[in-house]
Amino acid sequence: MTEGRFLFLGTGGSMGIPVVGCHCAVCDSGSSFNKRMRPSGLLMIGAEKILIDAGPDFRTQALKNKIDRLDGVIFTHAHHDHSAGIDDLRVFYMHTRKSLPCLMSQATFEELKHRYSYIFRAQQTSIDKLTTKMNIQLLEGERGEIDFLSVKLKYFTYEQGGMLVNGFRCGNLAFVSDIRHYPPSIFEDLADVEILIISALRFTPSPLHLTVDEAIAFADKVHAKQVWLTHLAHELDHEKTNAYLPPHVRLAYDGLEVKFQL
Ligand SMILES: [Zn+2]
Ligand SMILES: [Zn+2]
Repeated sequence: MTEGRFLFLGTGGSMGIPVVGCHCAVCDSGSSFNKRMRPSGLLMIGAEKILIDAGPDFRTQALKNKIDRLDGVIFTHAHHDHSAGIDDLRVFYMHTRKSLPCLMSQATFEELKHRYSYIFRAQQTSIDKLTTKMNIQLLEGERGEIDFLSVKLKYFTYEQGGMLVNGFRCGNLAFVSDIRHYPPSIFEDLADVEILIISALRFTPSPLHLTVDEAIAFADKVHAKQVWLTHLAHELDHEKTNAYLPPHVRLAYDGLEVKFQL
């Protein structure tokens, strides 16, 4: 059995932690576990490194974690906290002179073209080489299986504030971020998942995210043995929240690496 690794590059919500101008106990906390960059992860399988989302902290995350090269990028959706690092991906073309394989849904592609039109316009012009060059592979339909590079992935679709978002499964690990509304078929897609990474913003309800308790209830339906909560807001102190959680559910933190089986 091959082993894969998932590295949490950022476990914060869209504002990151500390939140600018906030002096709550978590934002002012001295604990490194309470410092959270914007959401992103790195999937490592064999020699292959695949970035999941390129948010506004991507450059800092790449430097901190010595990400000198990438084989591909998966975009779960196009919200700012998951895509604003797209310009910083251009450095990889400068190093390799190869377009970066990028996997996303048609809906995410349309939204990225709208948000970052200059990148896609530039692909046909002489400044071509100065912007991020992507080799885009589109997901077909709302759920299915796909080979991305040499990695077999299952994908499924759910919704957050009117935006379609993709979750992914690789072996016994699933990554389900920015989920608010989802079809019942998601539990078929997640059957037998042992390690579940799922977003949970805070304890109080949000129109865009599951609460901590909703994420626990979701994970219970998946019967996951190991659950990592991510996309965390500043309402969640690392130690206090972990003391509340059942033992198989923990808050993820920036720099955490989780091993899984393919
Ligand atoms: Zn705060
Ligand atoms: Zn988000």
